Amino acid sequence: AEAVMLQSEKLSVAGQLAAGIAHEIRNPLTAIKGFFKLLEREMDQKKEYFHIIESELSRIELILSELLLLAKPHKVRIQKVSLDTLLKDVTTLLETQAIMNNVWFEMKLDAKDPYIQCDDNQVKQVFINLIKNGIEAMSGGGNIFIETEDEGAEVIIRIRDEGPGIAEEIIARLGEPFFTTKTTGTGLGLMITFNIIKNHHGTVSVKSEVGQGSTFEVRFQKVGR
Ligand code: ADP
Ligand code: MG
Repeated sequence: AEAVMLQSEKLSVAGQLAAGIAHEIRNPLTAIKGFFKLLEREMDQKKEYFHIIESELSRIELILSELLLLAKPHKVRIQKVSLDTLLKDVTTLLETQAIMNNVWFEMKLDAKDPYIQCDDNQVKQVFINLIKNGIEAMSGGGNIFIETEDEGAEVIIRIRDEGPGIAEEIIARLGEPFFTTKTTGTGLGLMITFNIIKNHHGTVSVKSEVGQGSTFEVRFQKVGR
């Protein structure tokens, strides 16, 4: 399959996003209110109501925490960062989640240990989101290949999984706020990811074929140490 360039105009749709947020948060709130009404009426042993309320509250919490990553007027700290170090930090962070899902990381880092100019917390978030999606795509477990390639002025980072791949009509919607095919997804991960890459003047593309897994390829400008 041809690589499809991602990111784009989807990012500037603040109004659409606000409407989406209102909608997404109203759903769990409506559910919570409904179950509280029921509880009021029948206070005896309605354990499952508490479970539903708890899980809807978690959902609100998850949506808000992902949105805060995007909206937080956080102090951007740009510095020279070793991609090797950054990617090792990210895999350490995700190790437990990977093991629990029978997923193994295969790292193949360029011997030149390329550096980039970035806010390392934000760029970590990029790879956390891409690798998490890979883990979530492989319900039966598998490998995630994390590869860097020093290519002159640029460094390429590839995140490849052995999941089911992504259909063309879904590729077209990647990065759209709240677009998710998962029951517990927020559909915010890739929007945030593309936004960060764009802010760092990088690019991202995806190559995927149904049944063949997916490869996300990120490119950043290299800097000297
Ligand atoms: P979420 O993970 O909350 O669903 P994302 O923005 O991270 O939101 O991803 C949006 C959608 O893109 C996912 O629901 C999934 O359908 C698709 N997707 C993203 N990455 C992959 C992948 N590696 N393999 C298969 N599908 C993917
Ligand atoms: Mg995601």
